[in-house]
Parts: sequence; C-alpha cells; structure tokens
Amino acid sequence: MSKLPDVGTTIFTVMSQLAAECGALNLAQGFPDFAVPQALADGVVEALRAGHNQYAPMAGLPALRAAIARKTEALYGRRTDPLAEVTVTSGATEGLFCAIQACVGPGDEAIVFDPAYDSYEPAIRLAGGRTVHVPLRPPQFDIDWDRVRAALTARTRLIVLNSPHNPTGAVLRPADLVALAELVRDRPIVLLGDEVYEHIVFDGLRHESLLRHPELAARSLVVSSFGKTCHATGWKVGYVVAPPGLTTEFRKVHQFVQFCVVTPVQHALAAFIDADPGHHLGLGAFYQAKRDLLCSLLAGSRFRLTPARGTYFQLLDYRDISDEDDVALAERLTRTAGIATIPVSVFNAVPDGTRLLRLCFAKDDRTLRAAAELLCAI
Ligand code: PMP
Ligand code: GLN
Repeated sequence: MSKLPDVGTTIFTVMSQLAAECGALNLAQGFPDFAVPQALADGVVEALRAGHNQYAPMAGLPALRAAIARKTEALYGRRTDPLAEVTVTSGATEGLFCAIQACVGPGDEAIVFDPAYDSYEPAIRLAGGRTVHVPLRPPQFDIDWDRVRAALTARTRLIVLNSPHNPTGAVLRPADLVALAELVRDRPIVLLGDEVYEHIVFDGLRHESLLRHPELAARSLVVSSFGKTCHATGWKVGYVVAPPGLTTEFRKVHQFVQFCVVTPVQHALAAFIDADPGHHLGLGAFYQAKRDLLCSLLAGSRFRLTPARGTYFQLLDYRDISDEDDVALAERLTRTAGIATIPVSVFNAVPDGTRLLRLCFAKDDRTLRAAAELLCAI
C-alpha cells in the first residue's frame, strides 16, 4: 500500500546524486557554493557553547520572531504580532507542508501554477485534497487570471503563489495582487505565499509580497526561508507569517510535525539580524551581478535565454541544440558534458515545444565561469 504510488525521489536528490557520481559541476539543486556570513557561523558556535542546546519554544525563539516581525513591518508595511502571527519552522518545506495540512481537507481543491515547485502537490494529496493545475504563460511565465477564475469551484480552498518563482524566475506585479484580491473576495479561499526568494529580485523591480496587501494578508500564510536569505540551505530554518486565526491552525500541525526548530541556530539568526539588520537588502544586487555574469558568458552559447527577474535560477532554452526531452538531456549532460542542471518538465506542464533546463547561479564567480565554459561547448 502506498499513499503516493506515482511519486518517486525528488529531482533535487536525483540530480545531486548523479552529479556526485559523475564528478559533474552541480548547478542543479539550488544551494550556494560560498560561505555563510562569518558572524552568523560564529554565532552558532557561541550559542552552542553558551548552552542553548535544549528545546526552543514551540513557535520559535521570541527574539527571532520579534526580528522577523520588525523586518516584515519595515519591508511590507504590515505590523505583525510576533507572539500570535509568526512561527519559526524547519525550513520553508516544513512551513509549506504544515500550512497545507492545516488548510486543506478531503475533497478540497488547491490551485497551483505550473511549473510548480515539487513539494506542493504531494502535501495536498496527503491532506486528502485535489491539486488543480493552472499553467503560467511563457515566455514571461505570468499568471492568466481568466484561467484562474475558470478553475475556481465551490471546493477551492487554497491557492499557492510562489514569487519570485522557482524555476522560472518570474515575479508577481502589483496588478496581479489586485486581480487576486478581486477573485478571492467573498470566497472561503486561503492563500499560501511561498516567498522564499523575497529578497532576490532584479532590475529595480519590487517584491510584491502578499503581506503588502492588507486584504490579501488577512487570508494568507506567507512562508520564507533563512536558507536563501543567509546562504545556509543546510540549516533548514524558515518561518511562516499569518494572522492569528490561521497561525493557531498552523501551529496545531507544526507542534506535531516538528514541535520546535534547532535552538542554537535560532539564537545565532536573532543575533545576526540585530547586528546586521540590512543584510537582506544587499541580496538583490549581489545575485543580479551573478545573473548578469552568467547571461553574458552564455551569450556565445547555443542556448536561448531570457534573464530571470528574481530567484537564483536561470532557465536555458535548448531548442536549437537538441530534440531530446529535458530529463534525458539533463542526464546526458551530467554524464558526458560534466554539468548537472534541472529538467523543468518535472515541475509539470511545460507548454508544447518548450525545452528548458534550470541552472542555479548561487555560485562563486569562478564556478559560473567554469560552468559557462562547459555550456558554451555544447
Ligand atoms: N519553496 C521554494 C520555491 C524553494 O525553492 C525551496 C527550496 N529551496 C523551498 C520552498 C524550501 O526551502 P527550505 O530549504 O527552507 O525548506
Ligand atoms: N529548493 C531547492 C531547488 O529548487 C532545492 C530544495 C531541495 O533540495 N529539497 O533547487
């Protein structure tokens, strides 16, 4: 008996294992290959030595929740009560999973936009819900709100919005939030904002958080991740901001999935944010320079690309190179060209004729140069 008979191992594990086996450059799974800020690493050691090694409070260390509430207000103008509206989670993954379990029940429908991050649908199914797929519109991968309207039914309970968007790098615009508000008004729909790349937005654009829009924020759980913000994906610490009623339901699940999150890391994050409250403000420019370097190095390659608007992922269109499907090509390039990427079709519904690979550019410039050399030779 299996509750997820058709679900295999996540593509991130598959490609990282294959990259390691083949000794290929791993630009597949999204993680930086450079260090976390030294002060943050020192902070974890200090917290361990200071004896912060037992259970943290179930909802998160108060100092860290207060820092998150301050940041949320400063960036998005939304005042949140750290006690009642902020919960620290074991990465965004746990936040997303618990939010879905808290909101979706048997027979409920949840809308996701394809290509969709791979953890949403299994969580919806485990909750007894049905996933309704609405494709984004290439080449910009924006949302067709008429299609969303057509997908709504009396059973629609949740809409999952991921901006900046993994894997396409698309970002929501102010008009999207207006359209969304108009659609969900007077309907019993909860919004789940996957905003883990909230600080990684380019070209002068602004991150349109659900938290900026009071009407939407009142029905939203918004998830973020210190893994992205602090270059520490392996620490698996994230958080969820939601109004008190939704937070109460969320914590009913979180307390039995995770209970609490690794204590010394929470101490270190709280101290780091206090000492360097502007760290996240530099991330857009930092990653934009990497995107620009990668795109300029690939200008001489046979791949077509539209520069990502956010995240640390870049899509490569390989239609001029091969007719293979993207899964086969990603595997072949890992084995024979020495570079691992993510095939986009595993995130569902790639429109006909679109052949796309995803590359992670959260890498040292030397790694990006080495990767570009391999890609230009294809
Ligand atoms: N959502 C998206 C869109 C992601 O790209 C990721 C991955 N890094 C996550 C959620 C999970 O984040 P975390 O590693 O903090 O669990
Ligand atoms: N979110 C990361 C990515 O998109 C990977 C997360 C994971 O490996 N589970 O590559």
